[in-house]
Amino acid sequence: MSEHTAPHRTPNFSAGPATIPTEVLQRAQSEMLDWQGRGVSVMEVSHRSKEYIAITEKAESKLRSLMDIPDNYKVLFLQGGASLQFSAIPLNLLNNGRADYLSTGTWSDKAIKEAKRYAKLGLGEVNVVASGKQSNFTDVPASDEWNLSDDAKYFHYCANETIHGLQIFEPPKVDVPLIVDMSSNILSQPIDVSKFGMIYAGAQKNIGPAGLVIVIIRKDLLNQASDWCPLLMNYTHQAEKESMSNTPATYSWYLAGLVFDWLEEQGGVEAIGKINQQKADLLYQTIDDSNFYNNPVAKQYRSIMNVPFTLADDSLDKVFLEESEKAGLLHLKGHRDVGGMRASIYNAVSLEWVEQLVDFMQDFEKKYA
Ligand SMILES: *Cc1c(COP(=O)(O)O)cnc(C)c1O
Repeated sequence: MSEHTAPHRTPNFSAGPATIPTEVLQRAQSEMLDWQGRGVSVMEVSHRSKEYIAITEKAESKLRSLMDIPDNYKVLFLQGGASLQFSAIPLNLLNNGRADYLSTGTWSDKAIKEAKRYAKLGLGEVNVVASGKQSNFTDVPASDEWNLSDDAKYFHYCANETIHGLQIFEPPKVDVPLIVDMSSNILSQPIDVSKFGMIYAGAQKNIGPAGLVIVIIRKDLLNQASDWCPLLMNYTHQAEKESMSNTPATYSWYLAGLVFDWLEEQGGVEAIGKINQQKADLLYQTIDDSNFYNNPVAKQYRSIMNVPFTLADDSLDKVFLEESEKAGLLHLKGHRDVGGMRASIYNAVSLEWVEQLVDFMQDFEKKYA
């Protein structure tokens, strides 16, 4: 691409909605007014037209191949974000039984809070097996101390706590279906889908645009929803309707498909996983090598997608944020629950951007330490 047409893209470390690959946005731009020579945009066609169905089928088959999803799993492209799944999961799977939940941070706690609404109505029981709260969610309680139920319908956890920067890399070993929130780490590293009963992820972190949530559910977990589960949240119904019980988020779905194409061009999940590891190692090394920056998370649980860090002197936080923004490094403010800074380094954030951030951090330390 010539210098004249290379678009200016600012390094963006937003936690979500987050960076989308430039090539994907360019492709969407090129098709915006005239998609496949039809003189209409994707946004303007019926979700039931065969042209649009072709987009959804391709997106699903790309995702299946990227994640190596076995045939006995259904893939759904729904709305309401990951947060609505916090409610949909008990509505589909609790059914007057018990469910185990692991608490490792803000997002797993939100899932627990929603599930407990049904327990309050007497429609099942929610058992929190352990909580990392004592450690301020910088560590995961040891699994031999978990208070597991004998008869849980499922075990829920969050694989990557986006706010705390805490990631569980190995799926917990339990005897019941594992339900996992992978909103901020889906497609970041290879995983074995067959270890899970259900994986779900809002799209706006590592896939693309907001408005879409992906649910990958093992087929034997369908057909268990409560009668009064709202139709749009009923996974069995959505599976029968190919995620089109009502009008889906058509444009977000299309963009997700373009991101899957892009990821395949990068060499797939294994290749991007290696770059993600490099990016994370570089940042954590910079933090650990200094007395000026700190990350409190236990080393084996440090997220490769969200890297929170604090300054030894928090009165410099504001200066750090002002100067980093001036240097063209965007959205480094930490979540209010944790404070300090956070760099979200999803798939679309390049190693080069992380190198620029690290250079800035080292210069800032020299100036103010
Ligand atoms: C962002 C996020 C959510 C919430 O996603 P919404 O799509 O806004 O509902 C849930 N879980 C995790 C781990 C997240 O990072």
